[in-house]
Amino acid sequence: MNTLVDIAAVQQRVAALNLPGKAFINGRFVDALSGETFANISPRNGQVLNHVASCQAEDVDVAVKAARQAFDSGVWSQLAPKERKKVLLRFAALFEQHMTELALLETLDMGKPVSESAGFDVHAVLECLQWYAECCDKVYDEIAPSGPGALGMITREAIGVVAAVTPWNFPMLMAMWKVAPALAMGNSVILKPAEQSPLTALRIAELAAQAGIPPGVFNVLPGFGPTAGRALGLHMDVDTLVFTGSGEVGKLFLQYAGQSNMKRVWLECGGKTPNIILNDCRNLEKAATTAARSMFFNQGEVCVAPSRLIVEEGIRNEFVAEVLKVARTIAIGDPLDPATQLGAMVDKAQMDRVLGYIRKGSEEGARIILGGERASGALADGFFIPPTIFDDVTNDMTIAREEIFGPVLSVINARDHLDAVRIANDSPYGLAASLWTSDLSRAHSIIRSLRAGSVWVNCFDGGDITMPFGGYKQSGNGRDRSMHALDKYSELKSAWIDLQD
Ligand code: NAD
Repeated sequence: MNTLVDIAAVQQRVAALNLPGKAFINGRFVDALSGETFANISPRNGQVLNHVASCQAEDVDVAVKAARQAFDSGVWSQLAPKERKKVLLRFAALFEQHMTELALLETLDMGKPVSESAGFDVHAVLECLQWYAECCDKVYDEIAPSGPGALGMITREAIGVVAAVTPWNFPMLMAMWKVAPALAMGNSVILKPAEQSPLTALRIAELAAQAGIPPGVFNVLPGFGPTAGRALGLHMDVDTLVFTGSGEVGKLFLQYAGQSNMKRVWLECGGKTPNIILNDCRNLEKAATTAARSMFFNQGEVCVAPSRLIVEEGIRNEFVAEVLKVARTIAIGDPLDPATQLGAMVDKAQMDRVLGYIRKGSEEGARIILGGERASGALADGFFIPPTIFDDVTNDMTIAREEIFGPVLSVINARDHLDAVRIANDSPYGLAASLWTSDLSRAHSIIRSLRAGSVWVNCFDGGDITMPFGGYKQSGNGRDRSMHALDKYSELKSAWIDLQD
């Protein structure tokens, strides 16, 4: 990664990149059957990066058939777990060799700073792939406590054809959280990346094939949601549909399953993470730095972005001043510049959506204390919004209730810790929550009270691949990461053998 020392070095690497544009089905790159493509636009400057195959229902059919055939043949599904592990570890090693290239593709495609794609994303993807590769031959089945007259065996089996439909904010990581455990269990996988960011998924499919993952076992279909995504959701021969994205589309997948084959549907949807700072927080400086940096990480396009900053009254003024101080130092700029800390919004539609929320916040009476407008000057051609902070927000305002998915922070006052918890839970979402306090007993009781899948105390987004991740309420169902993710990619079989004869 140290080859990315300055923008000139990065641009040199970018100029040499090959941008993949075809679908990857049954072990090879192919055009969409219709021959249609779509223009893949750069968030940095609004220019066309390349043209990418626009897959439709007919391409989905071909991919599902290939995936089913591969599954039924047993070439992957029946491979001894330790052999699957070897192939996945080879896949991880190839991924590691290409991390700089993949980081650059990710940054070009979705606008995140190269310091983040190279410094965070690729490492997290590698860790995920290695971890699930190692899982292959470490998952044991169960024998039930059935007494001497019978043997009750509970075995976990691959489920079949898994379709994964993923978002653009962490294109590689969100995909790998699904692809790695699905492959580790022996399934065949069809991945449909978001239309805004298909490049890394296509490159990864090529590396998987090079590592020895057989044709048909891992397919990547670029295309739009209402065509390719919908066709996967409605397909009669997809066994499981795993999704990360908006709640609106998540609900559609539940309907598609009901209209088709009752496929299993697992959803990782949005969030409106409360970040609670209590008067007894020991290190206000650390809490403020974390509040600002976490909020503006990845342009705020993060499902767990701590967008509701809930501060207890006693420390409120001092704390908000400190957050403001840190937010002012965050360098917005060209995502290819290694010095940039806040890059471009993924596309114009997302930028306009975020600017719409900013307008709404002001109309409803919140007060902008930082940012609030599209960046101009050298950044005017791209889709850039600087760090934006609203003060005097109440939890009933639109900006506190709906997921903005952009660099917009709302400061909300709390009278005391009970009020803070009440505000935190007053949301349709329940993905994560963060709490800053030095009172351990209170921390424990608040952890229990918070209706969220992850709770972080005196830190933000703590944990790693060993910890399950997913939501309560309308943030979704099921969990990515950890051994618990395997539940999505397997069926349990109960076999009872009578031993009396
Ligand atoms: P999105 O829901 O618009 O799109 C996600 C995927 O669904 C894309 O691949 C898209 O093509 C597809 N899709 C869109 N319309 C569809 C349709 N009608 N039928 C079938 N498929 C369709 O979400 P997005 O804008 O790409 O991503 C942002 C959202 O993702 C945010 O709400 C964010 O919170 C959520 N997200 C959640 C997590 C998590 O782990 N909980 C992680 C990252 C992002």
